[in-house]
Amino acid sequence: MKGIIFDIQNYAIYDGPGIRTLIFLKGCPLKCVWCQNPESQKLTPQISYFEEKCLKCESCINACPNKALQLQNDKIVRNEELCTTCGTCVEVCPNQVMEMVGKEILVEELVEIALRDKPFYDNSGGGVTISGGEPTMQIKFLLEILKALQEKGIHTAIETCGYFNDDIIEELTKFVDLFLFDIKHIDSLIHKEYTGVPNDKILANFSRLHLKIGSERIIPRIPIIPGVNTDEDTIKSIASFLNKIKYNGPVHLMPYNKLAKTKYEKVGMGNLYRDMGELSEEDLQNITHLFQSYSFHVVINH
Ligand code: SF4
Ligand code: SF4
Repeated sequence: MKGIIFDIQNYAIYDGPGIRTLIFLKGCPLKCVWCQNPESQKLTPQISYFEEKCLKCESCINACPNKALQLQNDKIVRNEELCTTCGTCVEVCPNQVMEMVGKEILVEELVEIALRDKPFYDNSGGGVTISGGEPTMQIKFLLEILKALQEKGIHTAIETCGYFNDDIIEELTKFVDLFLFDIKHIDSLIHKEYTGVPNDKILANFSRLHLKIGSERIIPRIPIIPGVNTDEDTIKSIASFLNKIKYNGPVHLMPYNKLAKTKYEKVGMGNLYRDMGELSEEDLQNITHLFQSYSFHVVINH
C-alpha cells in the first residue's frame, strides 16, 4: 500500500520515548493559525519555491509543459490552476529552489527505513512516531505502517490532533503503543476560531481513548500559543478536564515559536502566516506551575 509523506526525521528525542524516527504524513483537517508545518495541510504533493535562492535563470519557466510559471516582480510565480504538480520545474532547477513537498511511498519502504535504526530504538527504548499533518487522514496507510512496525517489534506512537471519527479508535488502539494527543483549548468556539474546527469530537476522542487504554498510553500535548491559551482560566480548564476524566500521566507543553515563517512563504501560503507574538519564560513558568498545582508532571518540549 502507498501513502503520501512529506518528511522523515531520524534520531528525534521529543516525540515519544527514547530515540525515534519521525514519519510525517500529509493532510490535516485543521488549519491552526500558528501551524508549524503548513506544508503538511494539503493531502496532495505540492511545489515549494525558496525565492532567496532563485537565480532567475528562467529554466523552470521554459521547461514547464503547462505554462504555469511566470517571472513577476523578480520572482517566479506559479499559477495553481495550470500546475499539475508534474515536477519538471523541480528537475530542471539548477539551485534546488523548487522542491516537491510530498511523495508517494510504500509501507514496505517506510518499514525498511525505520528498521535501519532499530539498534538505536532497542538501546534507548525508542521506536517510530507517525506525525503530520494529521496521520489519521490516511487511516488505511497509517494502520498498515503501524501494524508492519509492530510485527518487527518496533514501538509505535502517533501525534494526533484528535479530530477523527470514533469508529477508528478500536483499530488504532490495537497498533498504536502511545498516543501523543493535542489539546489546544477547552472552549469550542475559541477552538474553532483558531483551528477551523470545534473541539467536541477531539475532547470526546481523548476521553474515549483514555477510558480504553489508560494514562500509560496517552499523553496530552498542549501547544502554548500567546493570546490563545496562555491565560490562567484556559489552563485551569484544560487541567480540570484532565482531572475530571482521571488522567494521571504527564502533560507535555509545546511552546510556540516563529520558525515556520519561511515555510509558509515557500509553499505560497505567506499571506496566511500569523505572528502570534512572544511567549515569555514567565508565562511558561506560570503555566507549568498551574498544571503542577493539579498534580500533573509537566514536560516542556522546546
Ligand atoms: S510542477 Fe510541472 S506544471 Fe507545475 S509549475 Fe512545475 S513544471 Fe509546471
Ligand atoms: S529554475 Fe530554479 S533558479 Fe532558475 S528561475 Fe526557476 S526556480 Fe529560479
